[in-house]
Amino acid sequence: MAATVPELCLPGIVRTAIQCRAEVVEHELMARNTWRMRLYCPEVARQILPGQFFMIRMPDRSDPLLGRPFALYDVYCDAAGEPQGIDFGYVVVGKMTSLFEQLKSGNTVEVWGPLGNGFPLPPSGHLVIAAGGIGQTPFLAVIREALRRRSYGVPPRSLAQAPSRITLCYGVRSKEYLAGVKEFESEGIDVRIATDDGSVGHHGFVTDLLKQLLAESTPPAAVYCCGPEPMMHAVSKLTAAAKTPCWLSLETPMACGFGACFSCVTKVRQEDGTWDYKRVCVEGPVFPAEQLVLD
Ligand SMILES: Cc1cc2nc3c(=O)[nH]c(=O)nc-3n(C[C@H](O)[C@H](O)[C@H](O)COP(=O)(O)OP(=O)(O)OC[C@H]3O[C@@H](n4cnc5c(N)ncnc54)[C@H](O)[C@@H]3O)c2cc1C
Repeated sequence: MAATVPELCLPGIVRTAIQCRAEVVEHELMARNTWRMRLYCPEVARQILPGQFFMIRMPDRSDPLLGRPFALYDVYCDAAGEPQGIDFGYVVVGKMTSLFEQLKSGNTVEVWGPLGNGFPLPPSGHLVIAAGGIGQTPFLAVIREALRRRSYGVPPRSLAQAPSRITLCYGVRSKEYLAGVKEFESEGIDVRIATDDGSVGHHGFVTDLLKQLLAESTPPAAVYCCGPEPMMHAVSKLTAAAKTPCWLSLETPMACGFGACFSCVTKVRQEDGTWDYKRVCVEGPVFPAEQLVLD
């Protein structure tokens, strides 16, 4: 059972963020080294939007001390459609995620969120999603909202018109790292796979798939992207050359998640042509690609 504790009080920054203990309800292997965890936390689930994230830490221990950020995979609901909790996908890379791997149903973690801005509601034309590795996790909720099968937030935000077409270009190192493909395909969208080693789908980078779509006679209305930094740089260059609006969700390491520590800053272009540092946790993690100064 999740117990709500007082809101994080940084008015205007994380007005709606809640900190709570959340029970692990399900925990399953999605792909090699990649897990999906379901947490019971109705207060967070009711408010969170696609592309937003939350911080998680292990309770009652000081190592690792700081929480780690994870994107919403999707909200799960009860039979009456009431949000009950959140699913997230994670890849095991270090201290915290190695501890996560050992968690079982009935264990608890500390969660605070929702945090960050999330993806904007998509335009009505062709929405192309470019995901690399674990960067696919924000997009199941994005797609379900775009198809008007689910609504998120309080009050629930809604889309006047669904995109005419949605294509997910999803790249991984090798086929054993593909996570959640059946769930994406079951939404009826066009899923195109690329693998570095050619074990399934296109043999090459996910950006090759994107190039084909950008070259079509009716270009995409928008590209949403999340993945490793070099991939996001490449996507940013391709969409800039094609003059296609693109939003990138950054995965910059961060310490607090609510704007206090400035450890996650990134260079963002200002209207006057100069740049300034913006916090990925508060002003992001989603930024228009043309605003980012990618070194
Ligand atoms: C907004 C946002 C959303 C995110 N969403 C997701 C998501 O949905 N799923 C997901 O899997 N990840 C996501 N991430 C990334 C995730 O937060 C990190 O993978 C996570 O923090 C790793 O925590 P850890 O304690 O397991 O790894 P850490 O121990 O913190 O290590 C992180 C990385 O640093 C390396 N490292 C650690 N120590 C050293 C050292 N001494 N020298 C050199 N390298 C070292 C590790 O090998 C690893 O690659 C997101 C990040 C952000 C900012």
